[in-house]
Amino acid sequence: MVNGSDKAIREILIVGGGSAGWMTAAALSNVLTQGCSITLVESEEISTVGVGEATIPPIRTFNQMLGIDEREFVRETQGSFKLGIEFVDWGSLGNRYFHPFGPHGKPYDILSVHQHVRRQHQWHRIEVVIARIWASS
Ligand SMILES: Cc1cc2nc3c(=O)[nH]c(=O)nc-3n(C[C@H](O)[C@H](O)[C@H](O)COP(=O)(O)OP(=O)(O)OC[C@H]3O[C@@H](n4cnc5c(N)ncnc54)[C@H](O)[C@@H]3O)c2cc1C
Repeated sequence: MVNGSDKAIREILIVGGGSAGWMTAAALSNVLTQGCSITLVESEEISTVGVGEATIPPIRTFNQMLGIDEREFVRETQGSFKLGIEFVDWGSLGNRYFHPFGPHGKPYDILSVHQHVRRQHQWHRIEVVIARIWASS
């Protein structure tokens, strides 16, 4: 609310007490520490979507900004860690794509571990094909 010649915002009203509302309230109350009241209203009649919510890595930055201890957060929310998302039948049936959240394991040589693993799989496939050709000849 704008107050006369003083353009400072003194009151913020957040409508909705789901993930979006409460996360907004948490973020704003963290940065607006003086001279601004934050009120959140939620409906007793309309419930939240109430499904499980998976997140992507920026949630860590958000939690750090709020000073939330990650171990405590995961324990209290009974959450689990997610390392990536697998997209099945994405784009076309039978197509699979794995989107990792950052590197896994320590790099070996100058490459990430998963690149070595993929190369080994490819070599293994080539070896299997050669073995089959040999066996059938
Ligand atoms: C099946 C499914 C799977 C999903 N999976 C994921 C996932 O993996 N990862 C992810 O990030 N998201 C996921 N989502 C989406 C995510 O759950 C929603 O986007 C998110 O919960 C919405 O939060 P919200 O705060 O906007 O709404 P809600 O959590 O629904 O909250 C709405 C709030 O508004 C209040 N309200 C409504 N009308 C009024 C009114 N007139 N006056 C006052 N208050 C009112 C309600 O009481 C409630 O408190 C999924 C959604 C579905 C349906």
